[in-house]
Amino acid sequence: MTNAATRLAEVHANIARACKQARREVSDVTLIAVSKTHDAPAIQPLIDAGQRVFGENRVQEAQGKWPALREAHPDIELHLIGQLQSNKAEEAVALFDYIHGLDRPSLLTALAKAMDKAGRLVPCFVQVNIGDEAQKGGCPIAELPAFLAAVRTTPIPLAGLMCIPPADTEAAPFFAFLAKLAADHGVTGLSMGMSGDYETAVMLGASHVRVGTALFGSRG
Ligand SMILES: *Cc1c(COP(=O)(O)O)cnc(C)c1O
Repeated sequence: MTNAATRLAEVHANIARACKQARREVSDVTLIAVSKTHDAPAIQPLIDAGQRVFGENRVQEAQGKWPALREAHPDIELHLIGQLQSNKAEEAVALFDYIHGLDRPSLLTALAKAMDKAGRLVPCFVQVNIGDEAQKGGCPIAELPAFLAAVRTTPIPLAGLMCIPPADTEAAPFFAFLAKLAADHGVTGLSMGMSGDYETAVMLGASHVRVGTALFGSRG
């Protein structure tokens, strides 16, 4: 087995263990392999090992490597997990199957317009600024009810809520809070958990975990 295949098997085993503890089905958790900063030759071994769901955080970087990889593997599912500028909405809608950073009315307007123009609906996760951090993206918690209502006035499919908890603190309380917000607002998907805490996120209900370093080793 290659390194990538070994790491992938380990992450799957960890997710399975967390699912068992939480009495959840493994099939209810999607592993997004976060391939940002890694080039096509680094990604290929994971594709060969069967991984089909990938995440990127920059539109331009993804445009450079994914069209060719997808031509060879049309069943690949691509998630945009990073911040999105409104002027990149059309490009994002053309390339990605899911968008995780929907967090403000101006972006909602831009995405709705881009999807209408493209004739293609891309499900979006609403990113929540779960730690109320001034420097971080994400919809402020106080504005979430109104923002979700605004999303629901558009045809954009609401895939769930997404968060990146504050660094250097225990993530579990933030994951639990995001799960509660989702339940309160009748939203089912939960995009939460990264290399350091994806098992915790699975125990607390994550539907999508975004794992980079644990699969690829250090940043490319
Ligand atoms: C980079 C990134 C990840 C993956 O982080 P790792 O710690 O490498 O697993 C997950 N989510 C987002 C939004 C990211 O930018």
